[in-house]
Amino acid sequence: MKKLEIERLSIEITRRCNMKCSHCMHGKARNTDIKPEYITNILSHTQNIGYLNLTGGEPSMNVEAIRFVWSSLKRRKIPVGSFHIVTNGSQTSMSDEFIDVCSKLYAYQREESRPEQLDCMLEMSNDRFHDNTYHNEVHQKLSAYPFFSNRYPDSNREGVPLIKQGRSRSGYQVPISTIGLDGNRVYGDVYLNALGYLIAAGDLSYSNQDKHILCHSKGFITCLKSN
Ligand code: SF4
Repeated sequence: MKKLEIERLSIEITRRCNMKCSHCMHGKARNTDIKPEYITNILSHTQNIGYLNLTGGEPSMNVEAIRFVWSSLKRRKIPVGSFHIVTNGSQTSMSDEFIDVCSKLYAYQREESRPEQLDCMLEMSNDRFHDNTYHNEVHQKLSAYPFFSNRYPDSNREGVPLIKQGRSRSGYQVPISTIGLDGNRVYGDVYLNALGYLIAAGDLSYSNQDKHILCHSKGFITCLKSN
């Protein structure tokens, strides 16, 4: 079978986090990092990704996984239209190793994608729920990079939309995404969780994700064909 063009892919690279936000859609953090083989299960069948979101937990706490994604994309020459990483603005958000790997992703995107697809890649969650102890310092350090911005303008730090999942008792419900195959194009929001399972988005709290499991990533192709 021809390799796949995936429109939208999110990879939950860790469930660790160094904050405890009251609105967290995932719930209590867990000491779990994704295994590289789960990422390979997807990328080995992929020729192109429209949008790639590296998420957590707090992504800056698993730089090794981001580096693995970057090196796998590069080795397989898989172009990515846009990357997206949201970091919480803690000390790990401004670590040299995190900045280094984000710079590598940005450089890769510029090499391998059409320039008009470039998008802002790294955002800091500066809403009212996140601990802002280091936000000024993080902002100052990361503002030197062209791929960084705050997630919300200062005038709209209250405006974050809440999702009723995990710790949040109010907000909207995210619909289950329909994932399918059209020729070799994979449509819908594909979510690879840190345990190696593909989830049809929807409720992404750690305690409820198993209700939306499509399959394990090692059965990715068979699962798409039967969906
Ligand atoms: S919202 Fe983000 S930073 Fe806050 S606890 Fe959840 S995963 Fe951590």
